[in-house]
Amino acid sequence: MGEDGLYAALVRRGMSRRAFLQFTTAMAAALALPASFAPRIAEAVSAAPRLPLIWIRAQGCGGNTEAMLRASDPTVTSLLLDTISMEYHEALMAPAGAAAGLVLTSAMERYPNGYMAVVEGAIPTGASGAYCLVGGRPVGDVVREVSDGAMATLAVGSCAFDGGAAAANGGQTGAGGVRSQVGNGRLITLPGCPMNVENLVATWVHYITFHELPPTDGMGRPLFAYGDLIHNKCERRPHFEFGEFALAWGDEGAQKGWCLYKLGCKGPETMANCPTARYGDGISWNVRAGAGCIGCTMPHSWDAMGAAYRRLPPVVPFLPNVTVDQVGVAMVAGITAVAGVHAVGMGVRFKRRAMIEGREDAAGTAEAGPIAAAEPSAEAPADSTAAEDSASDAVPAEAGGASVDAPAAVDTSSAGADPEVS
Ligand code: SF4
Repeated sequence: MGEDGLYAALVRRGMSRRAFLQFTTAMAAALALPASFAPRIAEAVSAAPRLPLIWIRAQGCGGNTEAMLRASDPTVTSLLLDTISMEYHEALMAPAGAAAGLVLTSAMERYPNGYMAVVEGAIPTGASGAYCLVGGRPVGDVVREVSDGAMATLAVGSCAFDGGAAAANGGQTGAGGVRSQVGNGRLITLPGCPMNVENLVATWVHYITFHELPPTDGMGRPLFAYGDLIHNKCERRPHFEFGEFALAWGDEGAQKGWCLYKLGCKGPETMANCPTARYGDGISWNVRAGAGCIGCTMPHSWDAMGAAYRRLPPVVPFLPNVTVDQVGVAMVAGITAVAGVHAVGMGVRFKRRAMIEGREDAAGTAEAGPIAAAEPSAEAPADSTAAEDSASDAVPAEAGGASVDAPAAVDTSSAGADPEVS
């Protein structure tokens, strides 16, 4: 393996070869690649030079910097972050004022098109950008300049994604996401409040290994991290299916780890890999810790998802009291009824055909004969297949636009007990 690359730097920091290979296997899994890609990742990472990074903090709380710094020892992720060449980060570097500006200029000149730009926080455009200045310049101008010369720009956190909390209704600063500032189009967004540092590292590893950014959705979110609903991977999902819901914080259901949907969990409408990547080196995530998902990886989540502890809006706008689980039950019942009608219809049709062909008398007694013996065996499998198809369709029924799998059973008794339950 390379003597001067990332692997050498990691070894100098005490990482074993076994841990490195485990890391590359974990990265292959994180990127939704087969394990057979692990050797290729290992080879690429081991030979890669240290990655120069320019990190711009815009309008935000700094939570993503905290998330990066809290990648705790002795994981390989934290070691990998240590070996990244952080050329500029206003909150972490010693220079300030004009000296900091010189550091930024010099980093861009030293690595023309050879550095990665990371932007944390929203870009305020109100008052000509005066709400967030870097070196006396609107941060949007700085982001544009830095991203124009970058290999890629990573917009980390929900604020950099689409403005986040600063862009919610009532915001005064004209905040928006980084997307409008990136001229060269090489943008990856990693929303989350904060972003998951595992996804940041996986994006880097993908770039180092394949020399291109990972495939994304239309909003720049990598599919390996944002390609599935939280609800589909949540460890509380079996309780949702069995209609076992916590109805109040601290009640018996909450203590037993039941589903938090009725306490406002936004997991059924939120795309992210929180249940599998988790936070704090894979230790936990908010639903595991007992708080519902707030939908922070989704566009304009503060306004679109409703208050954090309020149940998701009704899936049928003109029927505000109809809940997603009721829709699911109705769909299952409807599909079952259709399957039943189909089965009865096929039975009548078969019987009528048998009578026309003289194989059955008016009392319904089948006439013995080669055709009578052959026909049912030809028809029956087709019918049963159709019925099975209909039945299997019913199980994963999606509830309207909410993309929620219908529960097999629901807690209808609780609806009247909780004022939030509609
Ligand atoms: Fe998990 Fe929330 Fe879905 Fe319940 S509603 S299964 S807590 S993601």
